[in-house]
Amino acid sequence: MDTIYLHIKKESGKTDQEEEAAIRQAGEIIQSGGLVAFPTETVYGLGGDALNPESSRKIYAAKGRPSDNPLIVHICRFEDIYGIVNGLPEAAVKIARAFWPGPLTMILQKSELVPRETTGGLDTVAVRFPSHPVAQKLIAYSGGYIAAPSANLSGRPSPTSAKYVAEDMDGRIDMIIDDGEVGIGLESTILDLTSDVPRILRPGYITREMLDEVLERVDIDVTIIDPESRQAPKAPGMKYRHYAPKGKLVIAEGTPEQVIRYINTHAEADRQAGEKTGVIATAEVLEQYHADVVKCIGSREDEKTIARNLFSILREFDDDNVTSIYSESFPAHGLGQAIMNRLLKAAGHRIVRL
Ligand code: AMP
Ligand code: MG
Repeated sequence: MDTIYLHIKKESGKTDQEEEAAIRQAGEIIQSGGLVAFPTETVYGLGGDALNPESSRKIYAAKGRPSDNPLIVHICRFEDIYGIVNGLPEAAVKIARAFWPGPLTMILQKSELVPRETTGGLDTVAVRFPSHPVAQKLIAYSGGYIAAPSANLSGRPSPTSAKYVAEDMDGRIDMIIDDGEVGIGLESTILDLTSDVPRILRPGYITREMLDEVLERVDIDVTIIDPESRQAPKAPGMKYRHYAPKGKLVIAEGTPEQVIRYINTHAEADRQAGEKTGVIATAEVLEQYHADVVKCIGSREDEKTIARNLFSILREFDDDNVTSIYSESFPAHGLGQAIMNRLLKAAGHRIVRL
């Protein structure tokens, strides 16, 4: 199929009315069972009608995603949640008040309206109310409920700009809405509200510390903190290898001196063995690495920038055909918990503790 590209970045020169008409057209594509990739504040999503089982099947097919890995349903008005859930716990209302619209997904009991194709066969549904204005308009023009996973091929890093969506999805979906780069760069925090104590199933921009301020108790899925845990993660998607660059990625943890020495020594050995080497480095020590490609992920003082750059750097290494990648490690609290969660998955949990 020919994918339609819709540019709505400032540079596109569209008037507000033209932009509105274009988003309306995108909404019509979704209403008639098609797929549209669109920007959100976290990463680009691959949207279809959440209430149409055929649309969900198409999403799984376009991504090559296992069909037991449920999709997140996106809404654009808080009230719309009542249509797709079966009962709303008090905690959910508190969380929505504090963090919606925004990068937080809640797991709740689903209503009859939501097909099992959308929820990967589960009785629960993941719901998010994104803050991105284009996402909100598209959801409204699509009938109110868009099922959307990240707009990447299954297993690849989530796309933080439309160019990466095109890399994975050109020819596989009806339309890509290009609004440049996203703001956050990591997927939403997932909070399960179906058990007695709310539990974080996927760390994200809304941190555990922020949730602690709103709720009396918050647990965290053990598989996030202890990747060696034999337990199955409760978010089915968390069990799959993810975000993986094509090259082999190893994380080095230790003092800055230890990390620099380890990475330089190993990168040099790999280079001599014929590999193309890459390093994910923080600004403070960037100059001290020797490898074929050294990428700056941002300053250690600025975790938001690190979060925003992670997925695009992993993709850039693919574009550069880097086969052996080393990364610094980050403290796993606050936003760092989400950063390390994604980095560890990208590395297939290869971490060297020095
Ligand atoms: P993505 O859309 O690519 O960000 O992936 C959505 C994530 O939400 C996956 O990790 C899913 O497993 C998780 N998810 C969606 N629905 C549910 C649900 N009902 N229960 C638990 N996890 C869910
Ligand atoms: Mg994803």
